[in-house]
Amino acid sequence: MFTIQTIRKDFPALAQKVYGKPLIYFDNAATTQKPTPVTAVVNEMHNLTNGNIHRAFHYLGNICTERYEEARETVRAFLNAPSTEEIVFTAGTTAAINTVAFSFGERFVRTNDEIVLTEAEHHSNIVPWQLLCERKGAVLKVLPINDDGSLPVEKLHQFLSKKTKLLCITQASNVLGVINPVKDIVATAHAHGVPVLVDGAQGAAHGGIDVQDTNCDFYVFSGHKLYAPTGTGVLYGKQKLLNEMPPYQSGGEMIASVTFEQTTYAGLPLKFEAGTPNFTGVCGLKKAIDYVQELGWTLVKKQEEKLVRHAMQRLQEIDGLHIYGTTMPKTSLVSFNIDGIHPTDAAQLLDKMGIAARSGHLCADPLMHRFKIQGMLRFSFSFYNTTEEIDAAVAALKKIKQMLH
Ligand code: PMP
Repeated sequence: MFTIQTIRKDFPALAQKVYGKPLIYFDNAATTQKPTPVTAVVNEMHNLTNGNIHRAFHYLGNICTERYEEARETVRAFLNAPSTEEIVFTAGTTAAINTVAFSFGERFVRTNDEIVLTEAEHHSNIVPWQLLCERKGAVLKVLPINDDGSLPVEKLHQFLSKKTKLLCITQASNVLGVINPVKDIVATAHAHGVPVLVDGAQGAAHGGIDVQDTNCDFYVFSGHKLYAPTGTGVLYGKQKLLNEMPPYQSGGEMIASVTFEQTTYAGLPLKFEAGTPNFTGVCGLKKAIDYVQELGWTLVKKQEEKLVRHAMQRLQEIDGLHIYGTTMPKTSLVSFNIDGIHPTDAAQLLDKMGIAARSGHLCADPLMHRFKIQGMLRFSFSFYNTTEEIDAAVAALKKIKQMLH
């Protein structure tokens, strides 16, 4: 029913030229382009249907409230969460992790307790836990990864003990692309009585997760990596935990009653949504999820798998090129280096050829130390990319290699 060429028509950004060259957009792990049905919803709400939610009883306020709560139901169904009360809207993955780090930390973490992470985490799933450990006198423990980028799940139990308060793992690494066996990891952690937070920033756009099947305790993701507006994100948390956790930010909407002597809080999920939320963005997020679901996750996954396999194969034609994260399954990204070429030099030259690639530490300094390098080049694909674009990028890299050697 859909072809990649017809799908691309929904993404006007893909049809533009940069420096006079057709844009090849390979930075989808950083943020994805937006389809016109999503921008149409946002524009329509900004132009016409704009009323603050949950407080006004006028026409516009009511419509916006209804749409915002419909979006919550769409996200609930996307994650197969048992209840919309477990779906908290945030500004993104980082905001969601900070919410848990503060709120869960206040309630459950004490001196000498431990938080366990893996070596493959994004800075957003490291620094909030470091700050928590500093505040509480707790200890951060880190599970190293294997050379091929996989996690040694069989060693995980050595890192878990009665002191462990939370395990925080990425669903898929934004550097290596490697998809972690979340269900097994959660089962191992639960066997030690340890709850698990899954960073879904690199998982949501590739199908998300079934939170009941995997049984994770928290799942977080950003809308902007899932074809939705920036400034949107989701924190899923098990009701029992969210109920026990204190509010993170405070202000309007998260209260039940306020006097100068005492404030009581709203129930879930509003307890964690202080102030006016990004309700237009959230309605855009709903549209983005609907859009991808209409294409079908089967099509999305098939196309993205084809792209990553093609890229891995074609890139290996280049002498001296090293790929990081060689184990499967992978999301649709490839990070690599070419001997003797600084990744940022290559990225700048690619840019002038119309190719948007990412370079540098990719917000994962510990992984750069792990591989004893300063940075990498990364191509990350969406279902709207093509094998022809990959071929053009490989040809561009070969040219850059000649230029720089
Ligand atoms: N975790 C991972 C694995 C990511 O890739 C990213 C974004 N690059 C984040 C967290 C942070 O997401 P955001 O900047 O949207 O909050």
